[in-house]
This record gives sequence, structure tokens and C-alpha cells, in this order.
Amino acid sequence: MRNLLHQPKVCELRDPSEHGIEIHSDITVLIEEFAPNVKIKVKNTQKIEAYTKLSSDVIVLSTGLFNKFKASNIKVFVAHELGHIKHKNKFQKIKLVFFGIVGFLMGLFLIGYLRTTLVITAWGLGLLFVLMALFTYRFLSHSDEYRADNFAITKASISAMAFDQCFSKAGIILEEEYMNEQRLASSVKRQLANFTHPTITKRISRVHALHKTAKHLKQGAPSS
Ligand SMILES: [Zn+2]
Repeated sequence: MRNLLHQPKVCELRDPSEHGIEIHSDITVLIEEFAPNVKIKVKNTQKIEAYTKLSSDVIVLSTGLFNKFKASNIKVFVAHELGHIKHKNKFQKIKLVFFGIVGFLMGLFLIGYLRTTLVITAWGLGLLFVLMALFTYRFLSHSDEYRADNFAITKASISAMAFDQCFSKAGIILEEEYMNEQRLASSVKRQLANFTHPTITKRISRVHALHKTAKHLKQGAPSS
């Protein structure tokens, strides 16, 4: 019996084999093709999670994801994450710059607060810039998600149908997760999810539209 002290902590990231998980060869081939340096690590949580670490060299998948989805579904999530890795550099930097500006303005805001004559101007300007930065962050974050979806469909050869099935199922599971939370917590989580990600319905309809356009272009392309 394993010592309790050596049980993996929830936040700990481990190799899939340490959780008795074997990564399907389709997924390994996909990673090999687009980002051979990327490793898959597994997070021990029953929630469904798939994300890329900021360093862009690790895709994190949760044990919950492996329990609830087939390998062909997990491939869709991995393809989406590879899209983030491929596009990340540029957008991550822009986001960071924006947070830098926000931090700087918060500083100005505080200075203004201490000097009573400038209070209203500093508050007003600070608030305006914070709102602008938040709005821009949301926009960039949504564009990142759409780009990663586009990558999955156009480069990683995921079908629109597979994307639809996979994300619809994820949507239902996430909805159940929200329902199990306290009302306030679930509302905050939902708002946060909508801040960083477009709704699943929007993403699915975009992917179908993309698929249609690609098919149309293929049919319309002159044969060589
Ligand atoms: Zn994403």
C-alpha cells in the first residue's frame, strides 16, 4: 500500500504512465508533427481540464478528461492546444504588455489618490485604462481561442463533426460542474470562462462555417 504522504497532490503534474494512462498513438503522432518538444503531463483532478503551460512546452490534461473522453476526443483537445502553442508567442506578449500598462496605471492611480487635488482625474483615467485593458485582453483571448480552433481544423485535420461532438460533450460536463458549485462560485466561474473563452456554441458554429468554406474552396479550386 502506498504511503498517504506519497499520494499525488491535486495540483501536481505527472507523467501519464504514473497515472496508468497510455497516450494514444494518434496524439503522439500529432505532437511529433507540430511541436516535437512538447510533453503531455497529467493533473490529478476529476474536472475536465486541458491547457498549455505558459512556457509552451507542456500540455496539461486532467485525469477527469481521460475518464470521460475517448482517445479520439482527447486528440481534438490536444490539437486545439497545439494551435495555442503555434500562435502563442505573439499574443502572449501583447497580453503581458497590456498587463504591464495596467500595473503602471494602477501606480499612477495610487499617486493621484495620495495627492488630493488629482484624485478625480487619476481615478477617472485609471478606471478608463483598466476597462480598456480588460476589454482588449478579452478580445485577444477570444481571438486566441478561435485561432487555436482554426488550427485544429485546418492544420491538424480534425473534422468539424469531431470538434462539435467533443466540445458539445465538454459543454454539458462543464455545465454539470457549475451546477454542483455554490450559486456565487458558479456564476463567477461562468463569467471568468466567458471572459477568456467564447461560448462553446459560438465556437462550434464557427468551426462548421470554416469547414464549409474549406470544402467550397476545395471544390472551386482549379484541378492541376
Ligand atoms: Zn484554448
